[in-house]
Order: sequence, then structure tokens, then C-alpha cells
Amino acid sequence: MKIAILSRNAHLYSTRRLIEAAEERGHEVRVIDALRCYMNISANHPQIHYKGEILEGFDAIIPRIGASITFYGTAVLRQFEMMGVYPLNESVAISRSRDKLRSLQLLSRRGVGLPVTGFAHSPDDVNDLLETVGGAPVVIKLLEGTQGVGVVLAETHSAAESVIQAFNGLKANILVQEFIKEARGADLRCFVIGGKVVAAMKRQAKEGEFRSNLHQGGSASLVRITPEERATAVRAAKIMGLNVCGVDLLRSNHGPVVMEVNSSPGIEGIEYATGKNVAGQIIEFIEKNAKPHRTKTRGK
Ligand code: ADP
Ligand code: GLU
Repeated sequence: MKIAILSRNAHLYSTRRLIEAAEERGHEVRVIDALRCYMNISANHPQIHYKGEILEGFDAIIPRIGASITFYGTAVLRQFEMMGVYPLNESVAISRSRDKLRSLQLLSRRGVGLPVTGFAHSPDDVNDLLETVGGAPVVIKLLEGTQGVGVVLAETHSAAESVIQAFNGLKANILVQEFIKEARGADLRCFVIGGKVVAAMKRQAKEGEFRSNLHQGGSASLVRITPEERATAVRAAKIMGLNVCGVDLLRSNHGPVVMEVNSSPGIEGIEYATGKNVAGQIIEFIEKNAKPHRTKTRGK
């Protein structure tokens, strides 16, 4: 097969591993930088141009679209879909997953376990907002944050009030969540491929920290997850419409709760922690499923 990887950097671990795994299995691979693609959308035959050349003949495309280029990246992916190229994850599902509020709303509508969560922009009644999520302690998150930046634990009512007021001043969207204390600074990253959890790791926050992000000093290890956790991760992936994703869960008193579903999950941490060939399994999934014009949504 001829496989395209939509990635800005061929040297990133995840991209490199996907290239390696695809070549090992006898495929031709090409890395394409979405930002350098330009497209003709007026013709009957949708085309993509790249450095003066027309891109064609691909059987499948693996989107690795960074959060900062979601808008243009998904437009390029959509163009590939319109040309009938099989996408590992569809553009619509990626856009959906990049909107945290929309994701949580979709998951809650289908009864997936979530931390009790409130959304706000400029709340006039902070007390009422805090009450709706059960009061302090709460976790307050800036919606645009990544890698644990902009995630604050407010242990008391007055701390929570101050943080919400401060975020209000920034005119940002925020999320106020019950603090899952019983998770003890750990979360679970379940790597889902084609409706199965193929690898799972536990990320543990460093001493004195509640955020388990590796960027905040957390450490990752292999973990055995329960059937309920497995089922929750698989359901979340299905609801989001993602063939491949990382589902982050917390172990709460009311069962596994989904924190986030990531449509471009990193491969390095999970392969390192579990010793599994996750990149190889992604390529195998493509071999089984890539057929021309098999995109369900065609960007709609
Ligand atoms: P980011 O997307 O920036 O990584 P997260 O929402 O994943 O932000 O939060 C960062 C970390 O903080 C999580 O990995 C988890 O360990 C911890 N955390 C987040 N929300 C909660 C919560 N409601 N209760 C307990 N811990 C939480
Ligand atoms: N690689 C990061 C993760 O899996 C995030 C990638 C992204 O979707 O922007 O946690």
C-alpha cells in the first residue's frame, strides 16, 4: 500500500515509529506537512498540491495533526477523504475530539462515566457554579490548556472562588470539576485501536502533585485494567468515532471516569511503558480496513 502520514515533523518518535512499522510490513510511506498542502476545491476532481506536485495514488492516510493546526490540518485531511483516501481517523471525529466541551457533552449524553463537571465563561454566581459540582475541593481547568498547564486544584471554597475570578479576568472558557481524590494522582491511558484496548499504562504524579502528566514529572508504568475500565475506554472511542485514540481515565469511587479522548495519542510513552508494538498494530489495522472510498462521513 501507499500510505501518507500527515505530520509536520518526520523526526518525532510517533511519526518515525509509524514509518518504520509501515516499511517493515512492506508499504510505501510518505510524510506530508499539512501546512504546505494547497488545494483545489472548485474542480470536480478534488486535488491536493504539494511543493508543485499533485499528490495522488494514496490508499490510506494517518493524520497526526497537532492541536495548534487543527483547523487547516482537518481541512487537508477532508480533501484526502473527498478523493477517496482511507483516513485512520476521520476529519469530523478529530474536530469533535479537539473540542473538550463538545466531547464531554457527547460522552455524557450516552451515559459514559465522567467527573461531575461544570462549564463556564463569565459566571456571575460563582457560589452556585461551585455548588453544581458538589463544592470544594475542585479542579479548575483552562479549556485551552495542555500537558497539565492551566489545571489547578482548589482545596477550599475561597481558593476556588479566587481562581475562578482570576480566570474570569482572562476571559477564558473554564471547566470546574469534582476532584477525584481517590485517584491519588494517577490516571490511566488506554490506547484503543479498532474498538480494542491494545495497551494501557498508569501515569503516576510525582510526590505532592495531583497532575500525572509526564511533563509535570509524572512516571508511566504498565497496568492491568479492569473489564469495566476496558469497556469504558472502548465505548468512549466508539462514541467519538475514533478508530485510534488515547482514552484517559481516572479511578473514582463511582467507577472509571473519562477525562479526555485524544485523537493523536503519543506512541513513545505507551510503547516504552508496555513494551508493545503499538505502531505495528496501527499499520495492521490499516491493512485490514483501508479500502478506497470507505470514509463514512466524507468530511460531512
Ligand atoms: P491536560 O489535558 O492539560 O493534560 P488534564 O485535564 O488531563 O489536563 O489534567 C491533568 C492531570 O491532572 C490529569 O492527568 C490528572 O492526573 C489530574 N486531574 C485532572 N482532572 C482531575 C480531577 N477531576 N480529579 C483528580 N485529578 C485530576
Ligand atoms: N501526544 C499528546 C498525547 O497523546 C497530544 C497530541 C495531540 O492530540 O495534540 O497526550
